[in-house]
Amino acid sequence: MNNETIFIDVILPLSLPNLFTYRLPVELNDDIQIGQRAVVPFGRGGKLYSALVKRIHHTPPSEYQAKYVESLLDDQPIVNGKQLKHWDWITDYYIANPGDVFNAALPGALKLASETKILLNSEYDKANIAELNDNEYLIFEALEIREILSLQEISEILHLKNVHKIVKSLIEKRAIIVEEDLKRKYKPKLIPLVRLTEAANIEENLEHIFNDISRAKKQLETLMTFIKLSDRYSEEIKEVKKADLQKAANVSSSIVTELVKKNIFEIYEVAVDRIGKYDKQLIGDKTLNDHQEKALVEIKTEFEKKDVVLLHGVTSSGKTEIYIKLIQEAITKGEQVLYLLPEIALTTQLIVRLQKVFGDVIGVYHSKFNENERVEVWNKVIDYEHTKSSRFQIVMGARSSMFLPFSNLGLIIIDEEHENSFKQFQPAPRYNARDASIVLAKIHSAKVLMGSATPAVETYWNAQEGKYGLVEITARHGGVQMPEILCADVKEATRKKKMKSHFSPLLMELMEEAFKNKEQVILFQNRRGYAPFLLCEECGHVPECKNCDVSLTYHKFPNLLKCHYCGTNKQLPPTCGACGSPRVTLKGFGTEQIEEELALYFPDIKVARMDADTTRTKNAYHRLITDFEDKNIDVLVGTQMVTKGLDFDNVSIVGVLNADNMLNFPDFRAFERSYQLMSQVSGRAGRNKKRGKVLIQTYEPYHPIIRQVIENDYIGMYKDELGQRRKFKYPPFQRLVHFTMKHRDRDKLNEGAREFVLALKAKFGERVLGPDFPVISRIKNQYIKNAMLKVEREISVKKTRELVMEVKNNFEAFSEYKSVKITIDVDPM
Ligand code: ADP
Ligand code: ZN
Ligand code: ZN
Repeated sequence: MNNETIFIDVILPLSLPNLFTYRLPVELNDDIQIGQRAVVPFGRGGKLYSALVKRIHHTPPSEYQAKYVESLLDDQPIVNGKQLKHWDWITDYYIANPGDVFNAALPGALKLASETKILLNSEYDKANIAELNDNEYLIFEALEIREILSLQEISEILHLKNVHKIVKSLIEKRAIIVEEDLKRKYKPKLIPLVRLTEAANIEENLEHIFNDISRAKKQLETLMTFIKLSDRYSEEIKEVKKADLQKAANVSSSIVTELVKKNIFEIYEVAVDRIGKYDKQLIGDKTLNDHQEKALVEIKTEFEKKDVVLLHGVTSSGKTEIYIKLIQEAITKGEQVLYLLPEIALTTQLIVRLQKVFGDVIGVYHSKFNENERVEVWNKVIDYEHTKSSRFQIVMGARSSMFLPFSNLGLIIIDEEHENSFKQFQPAPRYNARDASIVLAKIHSAKVLMGSATPAVETYWNAQEGKYGLVEITARHGGVQMPEILCADVKEATRKKKMKSHFSPLLMELMEEAFKNKEQVILFQNRRGYAPFLLCEECGHVPECKNCDVSLTYHKFPNLLKCHYCGTNKQLPPTCGACGSPRVTLKGFGTEQIEEELALYFPDIKVARMDADTTRTKNAYHRLITDFEDKNIDVLVGTQMVTKGLDFDNVSIVGVLNADNMLNFPDFRAFERSYQLMSQVSGRAGRNKKRGKVLIQTYEPYHPIIRQVIENDYIGMYKDELGQRRKFKYPPFQRLVHFTMKHRDRDKLNEGAREFVLALKAKFGERVLGPDFPVISRIKNQYIKNAMLKVEREISVKKTRELVMEVKNNFEAFSEYKSVKITIDVDPM
């Protein structure tokens, strides 16, 4: 054993600018490795944290006396060198602290701290209890009584200071979970399925059964239908949903119940959206059509010269099938693949589509998973390095999956690269997974394929400039036509009194036709609630939130005025709160109102709504999609959620109810976003043989963006936008760094913001704009001011970071107004 004095620099799971140095007890000298977790005390109370070992050396810190490491949690590193390099880049580029990145990267269950709360895992199989050692069992018992314990309390129970290892082991044995799961707890929707009982499943018994029930016509019919639906005599026996069976056999539930009573059938339940081990037969991939084939060849040619390629293909051109081919090639070479997509597009639809080709080689990583499941994916991805086990060689996930411990990435797919959900808004690091994963790919010498029907202006520019390869597909798969896009002039229709509530005559006509043909309709309105505000016709008063500087939105259910920023509720006042007049009216409209009014005009039509209010539980979203897929819903009314990557084959009409409030949004990306949203939602129409129709309702039918959407003129939009961006010094020509300053006291904020921005101006001069109050200048009783820094591309990221940090550190250390909180957002979206 070596006896030298070793120091380690660790990243604590706290937002601190520096790494911290600890001294290693000599008995751990032979075990220490970079990327392991070390349990270390930090702060005055000596709280214990699991920190990450970043550097191993022999130099004691000069500013303080190094404390000792308590213990090491891992035998093997859980984070590798490539990740640490990636973290460094994120820390620098996004002007964040190492602990911020550490926190964003690791699942909660890998970041134990004294205050971490622990509870029993309700799914733990008590039959395994013998595998717990004495201390583990004690904790288990204590949790049965107390339900929730903090690490601190556990350490008191065991009379042990350091209990991280025990807790870690209990997590790995799946006996406990960390509390973050509490918030995420969701009940999966269970659907009943039918199968033969064990006895009935034996061939000769089955023959007897047929004889026995031969007189009970309906039962016989049901059994035969079951045999057919389940494909009993084929290689791959299928699961049969109870509802499907009843429908196919045209019988009621009571007949099935009879068969259950006779011990022929049994009912079992499965979660609709389980994303478990895929044990069904693989169906292989599809043969590419000519356009796809050509695109694939071009992508590969581009990859010979370039690391990043943009695949610009219209909606439904079959981009996913191309990804599948490239993924196949990468995994055959023994490489890992990361398939990044926006959270909302991570539907069972898409996952199952890939699972059918790749089976359980695919791991899925997203927020719906609890912390333990995330840790399992994490560990399986590490395993790849050591065992080359193919399980989870491919990972599909939302933005945080780029933090998984890949050791040998060959390919990163970024689907719907224009989506702003790749950007993390809160907390720091405010990274964009699209851009950060390009850096990750570089570290692995991997290739990146970005796909979109409506690429971000910045991305398309990078392709035009030759930084990325560019491959285009302009035809939909199977010769399906692009939808026909029509426009309704709401101003005109209103003047002629032809509007039926919010529906133009043309929209009414199109919907009627769709319903007659048993086709489905999607209506998009990007406001939730019933009406965005209440207006006094007498004095013009609009009720506002008492905590925020916004008007309150009326929600018919549960009949309240709500603030969309802080959640405050208020009763609907019968008269104006200012002048007392009863002449108060609801103004504008949201999804809730559309849903309601639709039911008035089409009483026989089933309408459902998909917005933040109806999808609060994780599963509700999937339920809506399944119901729409199964055609239990005729019209889906929704916000942005209905625009994303869904693939329904029976939607013939898509209506955009109000294009104007998107177009008028005060943001330099408003036009680009409007174009993307309208094109994406249009892409939901007519994905099979029949040509779909899209109707855009607007007050400005000749708005250039509306015309470009109608003509599917992405390039036109891109050129116009690029002109504006160049003129007004926005990305891609300049880099933006956005500062938000907040304080409860308006005067303090004003003073602090002035001082901070002056200090920035001293470094950056004219490049700094602000401070200004944003449109919404107060949220949750915090006043807000913004400032913007616009820097030329040529100025180094490092220099910018240095100067910004200097100003910020100075302000936070010495300013009279240092209680003003400052957040930094690089490349804001
Ligand atoms: P995109 O991602 O470009 O919007 P998708 O990959 O979802 O398009 O393809 C649209 C539809 O066409 C899907 O239902 C898909 O299964 C089908 N499809 C695409 N390519 C093929 C192919 N080569 N053979 C058979 N079906 C295909
Ligand atoms: Zn509020
Ligand atoms: Zn009034």
